[in-house]
Amino acid sequence: MSDNLIRRLQCQKCQKEMDIPYRARGDFSEDVYLLRNGARVPLYKHHGYCKTCNKINWMEEFPTKSKIVGEIDSFRRQIEIFKSGDISCGKPAYDFYRVIIHNRHEWLSLHLSRNRPVCLSCGNDDVEPISQELVQTFVGDIGISHGVCGGRLIGSFYKSPYPNILLSPDRLDREAPIKFNEYSVRGHIKDSFYYNLYEVMESEIIAIVSNPGHEKEEQNETKSKWPDFENWMRAFVRAELEYIPLTENEKKVYKLFPDLMTMIESRAREEIAKFRQQARQYFDQPRLKSGSDTTSLWKKLFG
Ligand SMILES: [Zn+2]
Ligand SMILES: [Zn+2]
Repeated sequence: MSDNLIRRLQCQKCQKEMDIPYRARGDFSEDVYLLRNGARVPLYKHHGYCKTCNKINWMEEFPTKSKIVGEIDSFRRQIEIFKSGDISCGKPAYDFYRVIIHNRHEWLSLHLSRNRPVCLSCGNDDVEPISQELVQTFVGDIGISHGVCGGRLIGSFYKSPYPNILLSPDRLDREAPIKFNEYSVRGHIKDSFYYNLYEVMESEIIAIVSNPGHEKEEQNETKSKWPDFENWMRAFVRAELEYIPLTENEKKVYKLFPDLMTMIESRAREEIAKFRQQARQYFDQPRLKSGSDTTSLWKKLFG
């Protein structure tokens, strides 16, 4: 394929072109999961069709165990090379690799505990992987219907009138800090709605399991009458967990957390919908007082 052929995906019915996400030229950022201890391990992604976003987006890719083991070996080799005096990979990369090696067991168990990849844009899991061939090279119907109009997406190529400019595929300044795109261990980008939601749920689960006597902790209930996201979710998680008996052994929450989340996840989504509705009713009223912590949290979550 010649260099100045440009890929196009277009709806055969309404003619709308669909974007294919690419890594921008010169973007050397790293997608990472942020573990609960603050360490970063790689997040792999590939193209998928997200029904919620109605577009082709990046989605999580869950590598096989042997692929992760292979990656760990290659990071180990990089570390050895750096230690032996060849520091060309740069200190920031060396530090990154070391953290990965240190947290390799968590990285592996993260993947073993997950089975439904999410869309890295909206965080929902109604997303289907699409092969590289269909996205990048297949000419014709790529097997996806354009949600809005029901037309089919057709892959083709056109010739660009502009010359292709090649940029170096490598970071030029190896000592510059690496830019990390951080996601939770459930694939939700930092500070997104789901990221915050799960953080609250997780902290509540941990609080209950590690301190079962103090479940009825004061939550400043008199402070305000309007919906408070954190307390809302805490109440929900607490009620849900009463139905899940935990043995002493199961109190290792870090290990158990993914299972608990799976058990309550679908109901949590209903609860979010209720919360949104309630919150919307409240914020439609003119007495809204802006500037308080909860207001900004709400704004951050729902825009
Ligand atoms: Zn269309
Ligand atoms: Zn999406």
